[in-house]
Amino acid sequence: MKFITSLLAAAAMSVASFIAPAVAQDKGVVGISMPTKTSTRWISDGETMEKLFKEAGYTPDLQFADDDIPNQLAQIENMVTKGAKVLVIGAIDGTTLSDILQKAADAGVKVIAYDRLIRDSGNVNYYATFDNFQVGVLQANTLVEGLKAKFPDVKPWNVELFGGSPDDNNAFFFYDGAMSVLQPMIDSGEIVIKSGQTGMETVGTLRWDGAVAQARMENLLSSTYTDAQVNGVLSPYDGLSIGILSALKGVGYGSGDLKIPVVTGQDAELPSVKSMLADEQYSTIFKDTRELAKVTVSMVNAIMEGKEPEVNDTKTYDNGVKVIPSYLLKPVAVTKANAKEVLVGSGYYTEQQIDN
Ligand code: BGC
Repeated sequence: MKFITSLLAAAAMSVASFIAPAVAQDKGVVGISMPTKTSTRWISDGETMEKLFKEAGYTPDLQFADDDIPNQLAQIENMVTKGAKVLVIGAIDGTTLSDILQKAADAGVKVIAYDRLIRDSGNVNYYATFDNFQVGVLQANTLVEGLKAKFPDVKPWNVELFGGSPDDNNAFFFYDGAMSVLQPMIDSGEIVIKSGQTGMETVGTLRWDGAVAQARMENLLSSTYTDAQVNGVLSPYDGLSIGILSALKGVGYGSGDLKIPVVTGQDAELPSVKSMLADEQYSTIFKDTRELAKVTVSMVNAIMEGKEPEVNDTKTYDNGVKVIPSYLLKPVAVTKANAKEVLVGSGYYTEQQIDN
């Protein structure tokens, strides 16, 4: 009996070693460095990539850096030490990675800048992102559409501007895209920036911090709007929009005849989608992070197979050292009118998530 058992065990082992190569078809470690978990989009980006990379036979190493630059550098260094073949990086501060990327390049590691451009380094191979200028254009278009719908009789419209984090290259693209629509209307007098505060150096919001935006909005309201009403606020990101809306509601907007101004956003985060459905935030920009994850995984596959990844832009993203070949996805403007169709229709959210 013992003999038979050990025979069976030996047979099982040889079967195991026979099938082992097929199972161990590991294509290597891919480091995925995401900036933060404070915004759900980055969690979804990270987790979708983790799943897709696993399915494609890689060993993903997913890390979130808590918006802390030294933390992100240490996590990336660790990925290189672990022998990652490719790094996919959503940078906190796009200018801080040059040294670690040099080490990565020396070890033969390829680098994809994910959503945010990595600046000042020649060791960035590809960039997967959305059309960031177009994000700003859509934000401003919905702002103007909202002003026309909510304040048809007000002339000129009082608007305030908020920018994203000045260490994130995207923030400048969003702002410039928005200003390509708003500046001509400011020049013609249709829109007035009553505080006089314009330009990314003045309106930027470090680390995309909602509390900072809320405090700035509170200051604007007490300094500039004691005897005037604000009609619109350009906000580049839902997390800021929620802070801005709290400041506005705090001084009575949304009650009596003080209408909530038109406030824009980005990322279609759940609190903002609910806010839109409740007629508070006016718009957001939907960027399907599942698609961005897919594009990135195909880029990595191509790199690993020694092929050229597909790109659709080789002009726009100069990182200070070279133009990074990029794949740009299309952002979609969302208001209450199309929120369900776009967000539930694409399966990004369930109806229940939105309605609760
Ligand atoms: C992303 C936006 C996001 C912002 C704050 C930007 O780099 O492109 O989608 O709203 O960071 O997380």
